[in-house]
Amino acid sequence: MFSALADYHVHTPLCHHASGWPLELARRAVELGLGELGFADHNPMPTRFDDWRMLREDLPRYLAEVEKARAAFPQLTIRLGLECDFLDGREPWIEELRGLAEWDFFIGSVHYLPDGAEVDNPKYLSRYRDGDVDALWQAYWETYGRAVRSGLFDFMGHPDLPKKFGYHPAGDLRRFYEPAVAALAEMRTPFEINTAGWRKDCREQYPAREFLELAHAAQVPLLINSDAHAVEELGAGFPEAVALAKSVGYTQTARLHRREISFVALP
Ligand SMILES: [Zn+2]
Ligand SMILES: [Zn+2]
Repeated sequence: MFSALADYHVHTPLCHHASGWPLELARRAVELGLGELGFADHNPMPTRFDDWRMLREDLPRYLAEVEKARAAFPQLTIRLGLECDFLDGREPWIEELRGLAEWDFFIGSVHYLPDGAEVDNPKYLSRYRDGDVDALWQAYWETYGRAVRSGLFDFMGHPDLPKKFGYHPAGDLRRFYEPAVAALAEMRTPFEINTAGWRKDCREQYPAREFLELAHAAQVPLLINSDAHAVEELGAGFPEAVALAKSVGYTQTARLHRREISFVALP
């Protein structure tokens, strides 16, 4: 099962809220028999920005820790990436980051809405509980569409993140998914099934099955990732995610090497 799969969404302690160092994660990946391991810690910003990402001055350490893991486990293919926040107007910084290392991929994620609210931070839970969930989802998916169309990212992270705390707008949610899937198809940008959703209040992978069905119909490529913030989360939920992907018709998963995409059959 695991040898055909890669886990490309893996955090390190440099983002201040994850616990496994690359060396420990690589050891776990070898134990699991994972086909590839990819690191994607939260991208640094040019100046202090929030308290849950890598500091700019820690970037050399990040690169060194990944190299250490590569040296210790030469039998394992280890890819280098970042999970990058899409922020309107900050696109040039992502371009600048591109030049700072030999990256295999950048994940595009929307954690911030244009008004500064954080979609997945419990600090903003009242906006779901007491606010207009429909408006929040609308703002999120519009931002997501702009992130896809920026063309900055090799694949998109956790598509329907605003469901994290279990708050959904009423009615058929495909009205939010359809424009997002259209953007992915147009830009030929893959997205991930992110198994972390199963560990959150929503108790569902990101994205929902309906999103997966639309994406498959539009031939948008897929990856399967854990969003591990601890060693034991590596590869979590992968058998279930594979079964889900196959049940909507997917037969392949994407791999990335220096931004070049290739495909491997799902196990
Ligand atoms: Zn994220
Ligand atoms: Zn993440």
